[in-house]
Amino acid sequence: MISFEMPEKIEHAVVLAETIAENMMRPVSRHFDENEHEIPWDYIEFMHTSLKALGGGGLTPSGEKKEKKEKKEGPRIAFQRMAFQTEMLSWGDVGLWLCTPGGGLGAAAVNAAGTDEQKERFLARHRGEKPVFDAFALTEPHAGSAMPAEVRTTAVRDGDEWVLNGEKIFITAGHKALVDSDGFVVVWATIDPKAGRAGVRPFVVEAGTPGCKVTKLEHKLGIRASDTASVVLEDCRIPLENLLGSAEVVKPENKKGFKGAMATFDATRPVVASSALGIARATLERLKEILAEHGVEIRYGLPRSRMTNLEREIVDMEIMLRSTWLLTLKAMWQMDERKPNTLAASMSKVRAGDVVVKITQRAVELLGPLGYSREYLLEKWFRDAKINDLYEGTGQINRLIVARQAGGDSRLMGLAAWFHERSDFYGLSNQESGRDWIRNDGWQHRGALRRPGDSNVSAGHRPQGIDGCGERRRLDLER
Ligand SMILES: Cc1cc2nc3c(=O)[nH]c(=O)nc-3n(C[C@H](O)[C@H](O)[C@H](O)COP(=O)(O)OP(=O)(O)OC[C@H]3O[C@@H](n4cnc5c(N)ncnc54)[C@H](O)[C@@H]3O)c2cc1C
Repeated sequence: MISFEMPEKIEHAVVLAETIAENMMRPVSRHFDENEHEIPWDYIEFMHTSLKALGGGGLTPSGEKKEKKEKKEGPRIAFQRMAFQTEMLSWGDVGLWLCTPGGGLGAAAVNAAGTDEQKERFLARHRGEKPVFDAFALTEPHAGSAMPAEVRTTAVRDGDEWVLNGEKIFITAGHKALVDSDGFVVVWATIDPKAGRAGVRPFVVEAGTPGCKVTKLEHKLGIRASDTASVVLEDCRIPLENLLGSAEVVKPENKKGFKGAMATFDATRPVVASSALGIARATLERLKEILAEHGVEIRYGLPRSRMTNLEREIVDMEIMLRSTWLLTLKAMWQMDERKPNTLAASMSKVRAGDVVVKITQRAVELLGPLGYSREYLLEKWFRDAKINDLYEGTGQINRLIVARQAGGDSRLMGLAAWFHERSDFYGLSNQESGRDWIRNDGWQHRGALRRPGDSNVSAGHRPQGIDGCGERRRLDLER
């Protein structure tokens, strides 16, 4: 069943987030933009106390216990709730939202790749007395998009420890995680440089570990309230159990280590999309308010041909904003339902990155000097917008993922038609036939559908590369 109603629990979370956005974020938005690297402790302390009262763990859905509880109470909504909260808090101020304590990108990686014991060990600190941050360190000086194939940071086993050496750059909340709190950074390093991406693993490096140093804080165009750090690892020794997943390079059961960490992006890309849409909505609302203050009302009821160009532009912005929000919610709903969501995740990120840049840029242009002036936050939102098209995979990289995934989907539909036609032949009822299998299991059962001698069957319907599991797997790993 599909429902577009907002569940009551999400409604409550949004009301709380709106109050925080209006009263705690907007009033200090300009201050933290102009005072880069000043830490918004009031916001941080308040969010820590509030999130703790709500069960702790930040905004990131985490922990099996919570999921089991939600299962009992109805369909899972934790990721959808996070999308709404993120959108609302980013409407308040995206830089401050990035300073929200508790589960960030590092926690998302622990959730995606860690064992239950690791989740408890590393994430319990978010429920403690003091606010704690975590971060995710993938990018290195020589490459970002080409990660993880090009990871040069190494992890070498020495007795009961891993010894890490390398440099990571552009780490969101790196300083807060390692210096300002007892947090941790998930560092990607290779345990076998010859193995390429197959050798890359995520390691948890905790604050205070000797050999792990923050060496630089970036000065940025936008999101200036958020710290972006460089981290150097020099003979940094961590316990063996801080490797998330398995240390085996070749075994298939190894999925949890490397592929599990890649799955982090399936969860976080729609979060970035939600955040982008929060900025876009703030801009569009403010634009309409300023226009109204100057006597320009948008006549939504008019036929398009009788609207002014300005009115048509505003309507087009509404369409961009709302349609991208639906796509983002779909990606989050798929996360909640534990369905594969790579396509929707990347697509929502691509669309939201474009939409926020277009809306914020056009708002500045339409208002001219008022848009450019620091009197309003519009010029700030214009600067804050661009990062959404850069981090968590640039627009180009996510377009590559979409192209590959969408190509997969059209083959999938061919497979569905082909299999559906032959459901009797395989002794399955219609309900068990291709469409349902595909809806429930995606590509996972593809191998099982193949029978000896099938190569000549119905070439017209037969998807190309039905046995192309290897190809698909390779594309997945290229994310
Ligand atoms: C404020 C900020 C916060 C960040 N936070 C984090 C973080 O917390 N953790 C982390 O690990 N990283 C983080 N990053 C790094 C970010 O994810 C990378 O900057 C991003 O992935 C791009 O990598 P790059 O900088 O090496 O650019 P490059 O990969 O060198 O890309 C440069 C340009 O080339 C294009 N390009 C590259 N490859 C291709 C291709 N195959 N096809 C088409 N075009 C291509 C890119 O789209 C881009 O336009 C952050 C960056 C910023 C700016």
